[in-house]
Amino acid sequence: MNRTFLPLAFVFAFSQLVWAQQTPRKNPESTEIWEPQPRIVTPGKENSAAPSDAIILFNGQHLDNWVSLDGTPAKWTVGDGAMTVVRGAKDIRTKQDFGDFQLHVEWRTPPVTQANQVGQNRGNSGIFLQDRYEIQVLDNFESKTYSNGQVGSVYKQHIPLVNASKKPGEWQTYDIIFTAPRFNNEGRILSPAKVTLMHNGILVQNHVDIWGPTEYIGLPVYEAHGKGPIRLQDHGDAVSFRNIWLREL
Ligand code: MG
Repeated sequence: MNRTFLPLAFVFAFSQLVWAQQTPRKNPESTEIWEPQPRIVTPGKENSAAPSDAIILFNGQHLDNWVSLDGTPAKWTVGDGAMTVVRGAKDIRTKQDFGDFQLHVEWRTPPVTQANQVGQNRGNSGIFLQDRYEIQVLDNFESKTYSNGQVGSVYKQHIPLVNASKKPGEWQTYDIIFTAPRFNNEGRILSPAKVTLMHNGILVQNHVDIWGPTEYIGLPVYEAHGKGPIRLQDHGDAVSFRNIWLREL
């Protein structure tokens, strides 16, 4: 290239560079993504009502979707659109097993009638995700217990961010986002379970790692498992549940 053309070549190269850099800015379509389109889901009339793709686990009418842990019919009572723990009837679980899900549960602890109803003996129940990982249900309205065992805790693992309790006798909501743990072929843990929990619409657990199956005594240790049911706890208190629905993810 001779000396006459050298500066022209530089000008040309520079103009090409400027053009290439400016093209995306002038072309909004180049950064639009059209496919796939998110699936359309019709919201319920209220936020707590089941959306169109939810599995209704309890509609207030019957316990057809639930059994006792030994597989016999669930023995909790149903009335006024709710199911209620019968002391001694033991835990109940869904017939169906689940992996990753979004779960909505409404629950109500009974009025406090005796002076000895304190701490863990006050409206205690629980929601065991995949039959193993307990989200505590407890009456902590102006009532204290260990923080990692109070309402909104991942029992004995994670203290809730806040105490969002309503009074006993009032209906409360849990909205739970659960990611199941992953295991390899040898049964080793690849990634722990994760959970996000809204209590009465307020974030109390923000995508926390679950350490392993809930233990009353000692520390949790993961064991490989597949899908599992939702289990509700009979802790001896007449806690009620209603409007339970789940979306598989
Ligand atoms: Mg409990």
